[in-house]
Amino acid sequence: MDPRPSIQAARDAKHGVGAFNLTMIEHAEAFVAAAERANAPLILQISENCVRYHGSLEPVGLAALEIAGQASVPVAVHLDHAEDVTLIHRAVELGFTSVMYDGSKLTDDDNRATTREVVEFCHRHGVAVEAELGEIGGKDGAHAPGIRTDPQEAKKFVEDTGVDSLAVAVGSSHAMSSRDAMLDLDLVSRLAEVVAAPLVLHGSSGVSDETLSAIVQTGVSKVNIATYLNGVFTGAVRAYLAGDPSALDTRKYIRCGRDAMADETYRLLGVLGAHGAALTGVHA
Ligand SMILES: [Zn+2]
Repeated sequence: MDPRPSIQAARDAKHGVGAFNLTMIEHAEAFVAAAERANAPLILQISENCVRYHGSLEPVGLAALEIAGQASVPVAVHLDHAEDVTLIHRAVELGFTSVMYDGSKLTDDDNRATTREVVEFCHRHGVAVEAELGEIGGKDGAHAPGIRTDPQEAKKFVEDTGVDSLAVAVGSSHAMSSRDAMLDLDLVSRLAEVVAAPLVLHGSSGVSDETLSAIVQTGVSKVNIATYLNGVFTGAVRAYLAGDPSALDTRKYIRCGRDAMADETYRLLGVLGAHGAALTGVHA
């Protein structure tokens, strides 16, 4: 389903829509179980890196779409950090309702031009587009530590490209294993004031509960979390295997990871203020 109504509702109500990355179907099952328990909208994300890991988009993408389609709450399937426009076309053909085009490695002009083309293509197919500003330092594009999004540049980028949401650099960075990122809440509120599109926080694994709930109240409407929840999954599997070194059946320990991930996702959805936020009547 189209994530835009849920993201807009989150923006209006000052909460956040949880967007969680999967690498296997048990992740998707855990996230959907949590969202159903919380009666919250959900975005299942598949990154270009995940596609590379599996060797192609179709098996993992179709499984995620099927799991989303069976959910009792609105669940969108989103292609995350796509640099390859062909992959975006394929995702749209398969039925993804949201994509992030990542042109941050391009020059600013090329990023704008390609983002605009992606928006034209996706909007023709009713698909939402998230993007980010061009690389302004660091190998991690706009999310590198120390990099900050300029509100006027962000405003213009959204106007020039027509994107539906914008990933902003406000102090988080990808793949952090500790939750101590210092976010610039003042910048978030200035961005939320001038940028027409909802804001997205990447690298939220490194952000504490307290800061996550502050940032959604300040103006971030979609919160991407991957590394932190992977750590919860892996921790539970590791503990199971340590307690039962002769375990053979993969379901026994993967189930532990899935259950732990679902519980923590449910809790995080509460931190984002999303419990009870599922819109009725938008479920496709
Ligand atoms: Zn990201």
